[in-house]
Amino acid sequence: MSMGNNVFSLKTFGFQGFSKKRFVYAEGIYLYDDEGERYLDFHTGNGVAFLGHRNKYVVDKLKNQLDKIMVLGSSYSCEIRDEALGLLKTISPRELTYIAFLNSGSEAVEFALKIFFRKNTDGKILAFKNAFHGRTLGALSVTGNHLYRKHFPTLENTVFLPYNDIEALEQMDFSEIQGIILEVIQGEGGVNPGSKEFFRYIQKVVDENDLLLIVDEIQTGFGRTGSTWAYSDTGLKPDILLAGKSIGGGFPVSIVFAREDLGGVLQAWEHGSTFGGNPMAMAAVSGAIQAFHNDNVVERALVKGKLFFKRIEEDLVDKGLVREVKGKGLMIGLKTRLKSEKILSCLLEKGILALKAGVNVVRLLPPYIINEEDIGLFVKSFRACME
Ligand SMILES: *Cc1c(COP(=O)(O)O)cnc(C)c1O
Repeated sequence: MSMGNNVFSLKTFGFQGFSKKRFVYAEGIYLYDDEGERYLDFHTGNGVAFLGHRNKYVVDKLKNQLDKIMVLGSSYSCEIRDEALGLLKTISPRELTYIAFLNSGSEAVEFALKIFFRKNTDGKILAFKNAFHGRTLGALSVTGNHLYRKHFPTLENTVFLPYNDIEALEQMDFSEIQGIILEVIQGEGGVNPGSKEFFRYIQKVVDENDLLLIVDEIQTGFGRTGSTWAYSDTGLKPDILLAGKSIGGGFPVSIVFAREDLGGVLQAWEHGSTFGGNPMAMAAVSGAIQAFHNDNVVERALVKGKLFFKRIEEDLVDKGLVREVKGKGLMIGLKTRLKSEKILSCLLEKGILALKAGVNVVRLLPPYIINEEDIGLFVKSFRACME
């Protein structure tokens, strides 16, 4: 039987649609297609390969684990899970002493929502317009994009307000709300950072009304913005912190960090995950955290992010090719006059992968190993695409 790539008896759903490019190899910041062309990867699989493709710490841990144990029910412990827990302690916020291992960002959001509703049976949760928290029905219920939601049944116990709008918060009756879920920088929604004043007001209402605060750092976390957690300089005090995307160094893992007193809210039989915390995922997390420390990932993301913003300001914003540059560290949004798709396909032709965010924002999520030359090449290519 031929297994050649001309046999397409099965089709994928549109959301996993085929682009014309076929990739065969990846290393560091580069992807290679089947014609041997090399691409700079600022897409990194939606920000997952922040540590670079096939980071050596992650690959070594995974290879080593393959020879030991791949599968183990989550109620049994194993060496690699203990190792992952030990390493996670070095990056987890001190107050957040409970951990759940899951597989995707959406599942982490679902778990946080279950804790919230278990504590507040008929509770209402506040989320924000343009927020993105995932595609499963619970996570979709707090995702603030009408297009994604409109044809599906979603939880009714949600309230949406515009992000960064303090007046709207002031007018809100918080006696009706028991929790808040937010991103520190809205990723999908357009790379919109929350303002200092906004976060200060959020924490104030959280304190005054004893609300449960869920901070979704699935995209911003693990060094992406030039700090271990993006919330750390906002004054926010999350009760639950969510990580995903890059925290497994390329392997599908998500992690829920929760405050001590939330550890007993769900009974053991009230949640479960077949693959959650599996040995391979634990190996990947261990390798990712080793890389995180040994390679000074936070510092490098901070320095390279500053350099990248400076070059964009000077060569693209000041020249009128970009209206606004948004974000922090290596989470960058370029707002232009054009539809992002047009720019993205032009960039791809020039050997650069990036993402979109909102309608007219090109989003860049490069790995921390990005250097000055990569930045220069991007700026030059972007300029050519806009002219
Ligand atoms: C990607 C993302 C999610 C969903 O993660 P999946 O792994 O796709 O389920 C949730 N929240 C934020 C902020 C994200 O960026």
